[in-house]
Amino acid sequence: MKSFCVIGLGRFGSSVVKSLVKNGHEVVAIDTDAKKIDEYKDIATHVMIADATDERVLKNVEIDKFDGVVVGIGRNVQASILTTMIVIEAGAKNVVVKATTDVQIKVLTKIGADKIIQPEKDAGNRVADNLAHPDISEY
Ligand code: ATP
Repeated sequence: MKSFCVIGLGRFGSSVVKSLVKNGHEVVAIDTDAKKIDEYKDIATHVMIADATDERVLKNVEIDKFDGVVVGIGRNVQASILTTMIVIEAGAKNVVVKATTDVQIKVLTKIGADKIIQPEKDAGNRVADNLAHPDISEY
């Protein structure tokens, strides 16, 4: 069993939480939205209503102790970048970030995110690959 922290419970972050829990892992979920946190209080191992751009929040959860950290803050590019910076500076391992804009990807790469996910683009590429090569099984 591993432990992970997921910040931002949009469509992306919440499916990461559900899959990790389903696979038997411990998940701490953080979101500013009390409604989202209420929805996940019986799914995630621990939940927290908090603003991840507040350095004290990530320090308190000992963000560097997790096996991986997922930043699923999407539309608010500034909050996503700032959160990722704090997470990396705190020494977190396996930092995965959801990105939407090219500028965001550039900055996230520069500050050292381990993996940047663009859900729509990645899924689109997979669909195209599967259509073009139906003989190769999905990866
Ligand atoms: P998705 O496509 O995954 O649904 P999205 O791109 O629409 O996501 P948002 O809904 O803007 O992204 O953000 C995802 C979640 O992140 C929301 O539940 C939002 O409340 C949360 N969030 C935004 N800013 C912060 C923050 N500073 N700290 C913690 N959570 C945050």
